[in-house]
Amino acid sequence: MADKRDYYEVLGVSKQAGDEEIKKAYRKLAFKYHPDRNPDDPQAENLFKEAAEAYEVLRDPGKRQRYDQFGHAGLSNNGFDGFASNEDIFNSFSDVFSDFFGFGTRSANSPRSGADLRYNLTISFQEAAKGTEVELDLPKRETCERCSGDGSEPGHSAETCAHCHGRGQIHRSQGFFQVAMPCPICRGQGMMITNPCHDCSGRGIVSKHKKLKVRVPAGVDNGSRLMLRGEGEPGENGGPPGDLYVVLYIEEDKVFKRQGQDLIISVDISFVQAILGDKVEVPTLDDPISMEIPRGTQSGKVLQLKGLGLPHPGKTFKGDLLVKVNVKIPRKVNKKQEELLREFDKLEGKKTGQKVKSFFKKVMGE
Ligand SMILES: [Zn+2]
Ligand SMILES: [Zn+2]
Repeated sequence: MADKRDYYEVLGVSKQAGDEEIKKAYRKLAFKYHPDRNPDDPQAENLFKEAAEAYEVLRDPGKRQRYDQFGHAGLSNNGFDGFASNEDIFNSFSDVFSDFFGFGTRSANSPRSGADLRYNLTISFQEAAKGTEVELDLPKRETCERCSGDGSEPGHSAETCAHCHGRGQIHRSQGFFQVAMPCPICRGQGMMITNPCHDCSGRGIVSKHKKLKVRVPAGVDNGSRLMLRGEGEPGENGGPPGDLYVVLYIEEDKVFKRQGQDLIISVDISFVQAILGDKVEVPTLDDPISMEIPRGTQSGKVLQLKGLGLPHPGKTFKGDLLVKVNVKIPRKVNKKQEELLREFDKLEGKKTGQKVKSFFKKVMGE
């Protein structure tokens, strides 16, 4: 209360300003700081409220006179303390808003879209790889079927509120002047349900468990979102329902690591297989296949199996299967093996001498 600005200053008009000038000044500020044009801007919201408060006082000859005479104190002593919410402002000055904006007039009965919902769904790696169909069990608020959401028993309809005569707001005298507030009987709706629907007790909405089948396409990744249009919360007053977002979490696999749409696995081969080449069996998303290890394969080499990775969701082409070859060095050899290795070493030694010898010493762990 202490730092309230002068109302004439707020609206930018002189103390002699006429009604039309005051209305015009307010209209300009209300347009500038309108919440629809300044979403999530608390400063604009404060200025919007401040302007409304100034206009509420200066447009009313009685309040204006008290204000001129006693300042802010003259009004607060009479119970006027600004507006509680933007809804109050829209309701009080609906003439200003409807005349000049065409938007911004908000009533409790205007259509509102339903909220979007999120559902976290965990699936196995195989399900993500192959695609799957999952049945979700959703706790869901739905428009009541019995009353089609209007809250009245079939054959009955809501009646105009007798307290506010359907306006949704009442004017209460507070000392010298009147304050507009939402009607307490119909809670600002303007209508009263006299025969509430048996299924929803007049709320128009029922809580249900809804089973919903969701197709998860093959190849989805962690965090992929599936949108199910219109499966969110129901709208109000005929507004459209929100959407349901299914967010996927994919369990890790013991065999396959994933890198985009490529799959990565490791296979162990013996040093003899590495040197001489061989065929080994490797797992794939389907049955294991036989893979050629070329002669002279180095440990750590990555062999690429084209098209054996994950599909791109909704597309026909696939990533690759990348096979990392890990050459195992035996920790122990028997006498015969050692003899053969030394023989091998001797044969190699003719070509490469001591270097090879030290290599095999390393291999044999000597
Ligand atoms: Zn109902
Ligand atoms: Zn009412």
